[in-house]
Amino acid sequence: MPKSRASSAVLVSALCLVVARDASAFCRTTTCDPNNPDDECRRNENGCVRDGVPIKWSELPIVYRFHGDVSSKLDPSGARTAVRNAFDAWENVECARGRTSLRFREGSDIKRNKPLGKKEAADKFGIFFRDDEWPHDDAEESLALTTQIYGKTSGTIDYADIEINTADTDFRLSDDEGSTKIDLQAVVTHEVGHYIGLAHSNDPDSIMVARYCASADRCGQSTDVARGLSEDDRRAVCTVYPPSSGAAAEPASAGCAQGGSAHPAEAVVLGGLVFLGCALARRRAPRPA
Ligand SMILES: [Zn+2]
Repeated sequence: MPKSRASSAVLVSALCLVVARDASAFCRTTTCDPNNPDDECRRNENGCVRDGVPIKWSELPIVYRFHGDVSSKLDPSGARTAVRNAFDAWENVECARGRTSLRFREGSDIKRNKPLGKKEAADKFGIFFRDDEWPHDDAEESLALTTQIYGKTSGTIDYADIEINTADTDFRLSDDEGSTKIDLQAVVTHEVGHYIGLAHSNDPDSIMVARYCASADRCGQSTDVARGLSEDDRRAVCTVYPPSSGAAAEPASAGCAQGGSAHPAEAVVLGGLVFLGCALARRRAPRPA
């Protein structure tokens, strides 16, 4: 029957188009800093920076450590669980040929808080709740910030930490606390995406959108919706950390400054290492007319 045959042909073409577009929708952070005009980073059709080397950890498991005080504004046990669940979400992704090789290890607690000065050293791999002050200059209200130091040439990540803006943000740990608060686990899941080397995505379903409320489906919804990884997020982790421990693929990539002024990114070169911060911002409040 020609009519249905023609329909089938159209369907196949459409599927191929969708697959082709989705295959490169996620972005990786690279050594090309889009905030530095001297780097002259070019972007691909998905807005991902395509110059530079994708940053990556040299070995697994990747460590994270809590600052011992956690947060006085949240139930400490619940906050730890939210952070652990965020790391678990990425390392439990099932790929076509089995579970991703990505693994995390929770190290011993850090006793000293991260210094407020931006260029001072801090204990490695910390999860810091900023209860008293958000020490970063933000064009928007940042919910959290992931900072990484990596080799400018190699892209190998030597240092990472995550700061969470509990000073200015009402976070929730569960649905019971209402949908107007920001879900902590969702925010940390986004930051863990940066932690493993992913950049912001234009895909509204991705946890890696630059703003918490960039997707209407995510903002103000249940925790399951807010925290969920999209198909493209899963594809990202399966590509960068494939099931076998083989070398990671090197797909299309991008800098964390995806979205231009969407978030306060900072990059400072320190002795050949690049100090990079990627923040997740709240949606910009509309200006009064
Ligand atoms: Zn971000």
